[in-house]
Amino acid sequence: MSAQTTTYTATLRDIISLDPATGEEVGRATLCSAEDVAHAIERARAAQKAWSALTFRERARVVLNARELVLSEMDEIARLISRESGKPVAEAVAMEIVPTLDLMRYFARRTTRLLKPEKIDIGLYGLMGRSSRVVYRPLGVIGIISPWNFPWAIPLGEVVMALMAGNAVVLKPSELTPMVGLRIAETFRRAGLPEGLLEVVTGDGTTGAALAAAVVDKIMFTGSVATGRRVAEAAAKTLTPVVLELGGKDPMIVFEDADIEAAASAAVWGAFANSGQACASVERCYVHTRVAPQFTARVVEKTRALRQHAGTHPDSDLGAMSSVGQLRTVEEHLRDAVTRGARVLVGGGRPLDLHGGHFHQPTVLADVDHTMMVMREETFGPVLPVMTFADEAEAISLANDSLFGLTASVWTRDVRRGRRVATRIEAGTVMVNEVLYTHGIAQTPWGGVKQSGIGRTHGRLGLMELVAPYHIHVNHLARFEDVWWFNYTPRATELFRGLARRFATGSAWQTLLLAPQMMKRFIERRSKT
Ligand code: NAD
Repeated sequence: MSAQTTTYTATLRDIISLDPATGEEVGRATLCSAEDVAHAIERARAAQKAWSALTFRERARVVLNARELVLSEMDEIARLISRESGKPVAEAVAMEIVPTLDLMRYFARRTTRLLKPEKIDIGLYGLMGRSSRVVYRPLGVIGIISPWNFPWAIPLGEVVMALMAGNAVVLKPSELTPMVGLRIAETFRRAGLPEGLLEVVTGDGTTGAALAAAVVDKIMFTGSVATGRRVAEAAAKTLTPVVLELGGKDPMIVFEDADIEAAASAAVWGAFANSGQACASVERCYVHTRVAPQFTARVVEKTRALRQHAGTHPDSDLGAMSSVGQLRTVEEHLRDAVTRGARVLVGGGRPLDLHGGHFHQPTVLADVDHTMMVMREETFGPVLPVMTFADEAEAISLANDSLFGLTASVWTRDVRRGRRVATRIEAGTVMVNEVLYTHGIAQTPWGGVKQSGIGRTHGRLGLMELVAPYHIHVNHLARFEDVWWFNYTPRATELFRGLARRFATGSAWQTLLLAPQMMKRFIERRSKT
C-alpha cells in the first residue's frame, strides 16, 4: 500500500503477519508485484520535483508533524512493533521510538546546516581569481529495503533523512513486519506529506528484488550479507548506487582493569536485547583470563534473572524470536558448538514453560573456539559465547578474526588504552565501555567494514549518501584568458614545464617566480588575437 492508500492491481496472495509469541494474526498486506513497484516509483518520481523545490523548513514542518503523531501514539505503535517482531513493548519504546523521535528532531532542525553549500579551498587557483563551491542536491527516488529486527527505527530513520534531503521514497518493509511499515506511511500521510512521496510496497523477497532491479536513484538496503550481495548485483545492471547495511559478529573485549559488574550487565544486555536479533548484538565475548571466572559468574547470574514472556507482557525482558527460521539457526549453532566441546553455562534450548511461540532461552557458552559456527557466522539469537585471552595483542587478533566488521566494544578503566585498541579493531563503530546502542544516536555514522557493508547511514555521512554533490566553479577574472589555452608554442611548453616544477608545489613564492614567463605568454596570446 502506499502512504496515500493506493489500490494496487489484484494480487493472488496477501502476506499474513503473525505474532511470533502466539501465532495470532496481526494483519494482512498486499504482496506487491514488479508492476506495483514500477507504479510506485512513477508516483514517487512525479511527486519529488515539487518536494525538492520546498525549503528545508517546509519539509521539516511535515517531519515534525509526524513526530508529534508518533509521540502521542507511542504506546499503540510500540504494541504493534512488539506484536509483529516479538520484542518487549518496553524495548520497542526504548530502542525504536526514543531514537526515532530524537532523529526526527535532529534532521528536521539540522539538515539545512548539514547540507549547506561548501566553499572549497582550491589553493593557488584561488589566487588566480577562481572559486569553487559544492552544492548538495537530492538524488530523486530512494528505494529503501529493510529488515524485521528494527522494523520501525531502521526504515523510519532512512525515510526521514531521505525526505529532508528532498527525495521521494519507495519503501519495502520486511515480509515479517509489513504492518509496521504501513504504519510509518500512514503517520506521514496524516502529518501532511504530499501524495507519492512515501510509497510503501509490501511484499517478500520478490518485491524487494523488483525494487532492486528497478531504475531508482539509490538503494538503501539493510539485511543479510547474502541478500545484500543479490541487491548489489541487481543494482549494478542499472548502475544504481547502493548502501548496504549488513550483518555482524560483533566482539566485546573485557580487559582485566574493566569494571566487571558494569561489563557483565552490558554483555547480558548487548547479547540478549531483542533476543540477540540486532546486527550490533554482542556475538562474541573475549575476557582476560585473570577476570574471566568472576565476569562469567556474574554474566550467568544476571542471565538467570532475565524474565521471558511474550513481548506484550509487562514484565518481559526477552520476547519470542521473530521467526522459526531464526530460531532454527540458533539451534544449529548451539548444536555445532556443543558437539565441538562448548559448555552450556545457562539456557541452551527452548523454554519448557512457553508454548506456541518461537522462544529461545538466553544462553551463555564457555569453552568455545573459532572453529565453531557460533564464533564465525552470524547467530542472530540469544547466545553469548565467552572465550578468554592472555594479552592485548591476542584480544585484538581474536576480535579481527572475522569476515564481519560492524561494531565492537572494549571494556577498560583506562580510556587511553580503550582508544588505542579501538583504532586497531576492524569495525565501523568501536565503543569503549558501551555496547550495541549507537544506532540510536542520530548524529553518528552507522555502517560496517568488510562484509558488514558499504556506505553509511545516520549523521552527516549518512545524509551525504542521499544527495549528489555538484561542483560549481567560477572564474572571477573572465577577461584574462588562461595561459594553457591554444595555441601550444615552444614558449607555452616552457611555461608548462615551469608550472610543473613550481606551481604544482603549492607554494605561492615558487609560482611568483614564474611571473615573467606568464607575462610573456599573455603577450604572445594577445598578439595572436
Ligand atoms: P534479509 O536479507 O533476509 O531481508 C532483508 C530485506 O530484503 C527484507 O525486506 C526482504 O524481503 C528483502 N529481500 C529478500 N530477498 C531479496 C532480494 N533478492 N532482493 C531484494 N530484497 C530482498 O534480512 P532479514 O532477515 O530481514 O534481517 C536480518 C539481517 O539484517 C541480519 O543479517 C542483520 O545483521 C541484518 N541487519 C543489519 C543491520 C545494519 O545496520 N547493518 C541492521 C539490521 C539488520
